[in-house]
Amino acid sequence: MKRIAILGSTGSIGVNTLKVISHFPDRFRVIGLTTNSNIELLSKQIKEFKPRFVCVSDNKAGFALRKKLNTANTKLFIGAQGLEALVSIKDIDKIVLAISGAAALLPLLKALERGKEVALANKEALVMAGPLIMDLARKKKTKIIPVDSEQSAIWQCLGEEPRSRLKHIYLTASGGPFRTVSPAALKSISISTVLRHPKWKMGKKISVDSATLMNKGLELLETMFLFGIPSEKIKILIHPQALIHSMVEFIDGIVLAQLSSTDMRIPIQYALSYPQRISNSLPVIDFYKLQELHFAKPDFKRFPCLNLAYRAARELGTMPCVLNAANEVVVSEFLGKRLGFISIPKVIERVMDRHRSKLSPHLSDILAADKWAREEAYKAIRAI
Ligand code: NDP
Ligand code: MG
Repeated sequence: MKRIAILGSTGSIGVNTLKVISHFPDRFRVIGLTTNSNIELLSKQIKEFKPRFVCVSDNKAGFALRKKLNTANTKLFIGAQGLEALVSIKDIDKIVLAISGAAALLPLLKALERGKEVALANKEALVMAGPLIMDLARKKKTKIIPVDSEQSAIWQCLGEEPRSRLKHIYLTASGGPFRTVSPAALKSISISTVLRHPKWKMGKKISVDSATLMNKGLELLETMFLFGIPSEKIKILIHPQALIHSMVEFIDGIVLAQLSSTDMRIPIQYALSYPQRISNSLPVIDFYKLQELHFAKPDFKRFPCLNLAYRAARELGTMPCVLNAANEVVVSEFLGKRLGFISIPKVIERVMDRHRSKLSPHLSDILAADKWAREEAYKAIRAI
């Protein structure tokens, strides 16, 4: 029986993780759940899964929950410090990190510091501080198991093969909702069309990132840091069916691909059950019906966020963190209807242009770069 804590249990990945767990009551037990502020859904999850520990990061929502929670069975933590305290609990065997954005960084570092195995869905923390995170995981001899479908695919295809035998990674991308939309039409795109992804149903932030292809840019950096692979070896490949979740090409020309239906519960289940594979009733690919798969080179002109991510991958230091922070600001401003869709890459580029990257950054440098980039992004938006 593995005792699992899910950080960000009220989000898309969190809810899917609970769906997976509910099918295997004899293998997994939910011991901890957390939310930022969605105490309504958290309360339902507490009733159903009876976790011993919960955390609400938002103070106001946390105190509101304290009034109605039966604390005899469930201990409630509140705030960012509460989250770090929950992560440190000895009885937790595995942490599913499904908090979105930079807010995942400190809890992730704390989890690794405590030697916890982490099933990592969040990509922003790796983009911000990949080398620090991977060094810490190595030092503590703990595993980071990817949940993001592409990273799970690459991890499975790479196996134990030494990096010297790797030629390329094909990082696949469905292309998002605007793959075939004309650049002129992007000028007047609405929020609801941005959020309507053709293949995946996800949280708002990652849905916007999928429409700008910044999601693939973040995944480029995620792949580099997670597997120690330089960006020149990573090729982004548009694959609209989203059935091949990525491919690995070795020096002898052999390519391994991982395919499965487009359902996040599949990589989530593997991240929970690893090193075992367990039978389930999730959708499978019907190859007799499928007939064909399509591939294309991404259009870097139409999706400038890809260029920005490759640039951050070349410059490294604090630049990936700056890219991520500026992106978080523009996505939130776009969702708040204060910024147009086509201004998203422009603002990020302006912030990157103004940044003097610090190489081999410490955590304090990363947190300072994150804060700086957010302020610069707001300034750049005001200047538009
Ligand atoms: P959601 O927005 O649906 O959920 C995010 C979760 O994190 C919620 O529980 C939210 O709480 C919590 N949260 C948000 N901000 C904070 C904060 N400041 N402090 C504490 N908790 C916080 O996101 P997704 O589930 O879509 O994505 C989660 C992560 O997984 C992202 O990094 C994303 O890139 C990655 N990912 C997601 C995929 C998907 O299919 N959705 C696929 C691959 C990767 P609340 O409910 O209160 O807002
Ligand atoms: Mg992905």
